[in-house]
Amino acid sequence: MEKLIEARKIISEADKQIAELFEKRMQAVKQVAEYKKERGLPVFDAAREAELIKRNMEYIEDDEIKEFYVPFIRDTMSVSKDYQRKIIEGVPENNVIRVEQTSDENSYDIILERGALKKAGELLGIDKDRKVLVVTDTGVPRIYADTVAWCFEDSHIFIFPEGEKSKNFDTYRAICQTLCDAHFTRKDAVIAVGGGVVGDMAGFAAATYMRGIDFYNIPTTLLSQVDSSIGGKAAVDLGRFKNIIGAFYQPKKVIIDPDVLGTLPKRQIANGLAESIKMAANFNKDLFEIFLKEDYMEHIEKIIEGSLKIKKYVVQQDEKETGLRKVLNFGHTIGHAIEATAEYGELYHGECVALGMLPMCGKNVRDKMVAALENVGLPTEFDYDKNKVYKALCHDKKSQGKSITAVKCEEIGTFTFCEMTNEQLRNLL
Ligand code: NAD
Ligand code: ZN
Repeated sequence: MEKLIEARKIISEADKQIAELFEKRMQAVKQVAEYKKERGLPVFDAAREAELIKRNMEYIEDDEIKEFYVPFIRDTMSVSKDYQRKIIEGVPENNVIRVEQTSDENSYDIILERGALKKAGELLGIDKDRKVLVVTDTGVPRIYADTVAWCFEDSHIFIFPEGEKSKNFDTYRAICQTLCDAHFTRKDAVIAVGGGVVGDMAGFAAATYMRGIDFYNIPTTLLSQVDSSIGGKAAVDLGRFKNIIGAFYQPKKVIIDPDVLGTLPKRQIANGLAESIKMAANFNKDLFEIFLKEDYMEHIEKIIEGSLKIKKYVVQQDEKETGLRKVLNFGHTIGHAIEATAEYGELYHGECVALGMLPMCGKNVRDKMVAALENVGLPTEFDYDKNKVYKALCHDKKSQGKSITAVKCEEIGTFTFCEMTNEQLRNLL
């Protein structure tokens, strides 16, 4: 008993010191923000943040405590950023993109807001008496899923091993088993917190469990934020057949917090940017210009918003059967063939798309495209086996007959569809 009282005293004293230090720290943060505001400098600097976390770790000796220090210091930095943002930009309104479906019931909002993860409970608007299953994978920092789960009274977490190899029926079955064991009913909900793999797995489980329970998506990779959060597709791989079993199932809401990209490796950021560059090249010249700037990461919210608006436009048009969706395949015809012939993990999807876009660019576009890809760290050259890629291309085409509809970009911000034969495609490699 005495030990307990003693320990609590130490905690109270430590809390007091932390509060005093916190105030001191925030006053310094304010000075930094005012300095930045005067000079028009940005708040976001992921590289410096990662470095600071690493450095601060050295202050902790106890390995067990070290593990708990990471979320603590990250939170501290996150509130510092919020404070800086408040001073530099004023309190921003959150940005809502409404995705309309033919039936109103299937329409949903995408909320794009820094720091949204912490407010997930409020933003998702899920009633407190509902059970939620948060689905995530081992590569997603655990704190993200925990932060979401903590917002709810009756929450469960399902974690599976990271990577495309988990996008299979074993994982699907395990998620469904968890839902059964915890007695989830149709009035409960599934929340994905992770990249495209998590989104697809959680979405497919939600689409099929009891013929469909509510699905909420919190994408945490740039690729999933700009691409898989719109379109309502969810799928599972079957052996080497990718996305072969799936469903169209719209989420009830999507929350995008650009701050979670702070932990995403640069190569994964570039992977997602490839899809944004693809969309900007075909639809939005101003957006494309951002990728030519050195400080493109400062504009990540604009990039995400711009990409989502393009994808939303395309997907909504296609509901009216215009066939416009094919434009999203820009760079993907050759890109998929390169992806199919590369060693497992050698090239990311976005890197293959980058390589696949270049041959489809007209002479007015090519130099700019190369500059944009290089600027964000995407490849513009790769020593692939042309014969193998050609074979993969032909294989891809078999199901579609003699020619394929390819997307070309002759001028930034525009596109043309053109029918191409095997031979014509071969000449582009
Ligand atoms: P991914 O989900 O495998 O994520 C990449 C890696 O990043 C994983 O290891 C993950 O654990 C980790 N990660 C996720 N968030 C992180 C974060 N904030 N910080 C650090 N690490 C983090 O890959 P992806 O590129 O997001 O998605 C690819 C998948 O999405 C493919 O299976 C593809 O078929 C699918 N996809 C689906 C759609 C759709 O419309 N449904 C569209 C495009 C792609
Ligand atoms: Zn793609």
